[in-house]
Amino acid sequence: MSVRVGLDLGSTAIKAVFVKEERLIWQGLVATAPGQEALAEHLIAKGLAESGLDKGDLQNPAVTGYGKGLYAKPGKVIDEISANALGCFTLSGGLARTVINIGGQDVKAICLDDQGRVSDFIMNDKCAAGTGRFFELAARLLDTPLEDFGRLSRQAAGALELNSTCVVFAESEIVSAMARGAGREELIRALHFSVARRVAGLAGRRLAGGGVFLDGGPAQNEGLLEALQEELMIDVQVLPQPQYTVAYGAAVSL
Ligand code: ADP
Repeated sequence: MSVRVGLDLGSTAIKAVFVKEERLIWQGLVATAPGQEALAEHLIAKGLAESGLDKGDLQNPAVTGYGKGLYAKPGKVIDEISANALGCFTLSGGLARTVINIGGQDVKAICLDDQGRVSDFIMNDKCAAGTGRFFELAARLLDTPLEDFGRLSRQAAGALELNSTCVVFAESEIVSAMARGAGREELIRALHFSVARRVAGLAGRRLAGGGVFLDGGPAQNEGLLEALQEELMIDVQVLPQPQYTVAYGAAVSL
């Protein structure tokens, strides 16, 4: 029972991590779908197979995320804000003072004190325009994998603006820009700036002094990171496994 397990039942992806002492020894994810508890159990079984651990090595999971109430017998339930704060603070070696989390369906900015406690937070879960969902829609429209967005936006030759404040309008704006012959790279770069502007508008007012970290799945997109740094006019850091920070924070809360 030496390995702690964190489960983040997110709106878009279910993430699981195994943590020994404070070291992340395994992480995995699966797309969110009905039957979240069964999906989570399956993910943990996959983790056992891949890590060579036995079920008896694992503690009962700490569960967080949008679907946290769907897990019947957790070892612990922790809210996403606290799990995110603890995860990012621990993994950053105590440097994080602001965490910006972009998830599948929401954006959060969390302020921490020098002990890693949450001192303030703000969330936008009303509008998909600044979230991972927006990128998924754009990836489909542009027929381009999300993993390529960062690299492609760096190749953009010129600047283009997307002004729509709503996903529905942004979709038609992208389609008409494509029809006018806008390049894929320019459109992707414009998307990054459009999301970054929205996120900066939310988080800018919450920036405490000290380290600013971006996490959640979209943090893997270096084009978005660059745009966000430009919009906020500060350095923003990304930890090595940014989509797992919340699950990690749940695990280390056990
Ligand atoms: P949630 O916890 O709400 O389920 P996540 O933090 O797991 O959200 O992030 C999910 C989002 O991450 C997806 O909507 C997708 O846009 C984005 N994403 C996942 N993988 C990548 C990647 N390699 N590059 C860029 N974005 C990604």
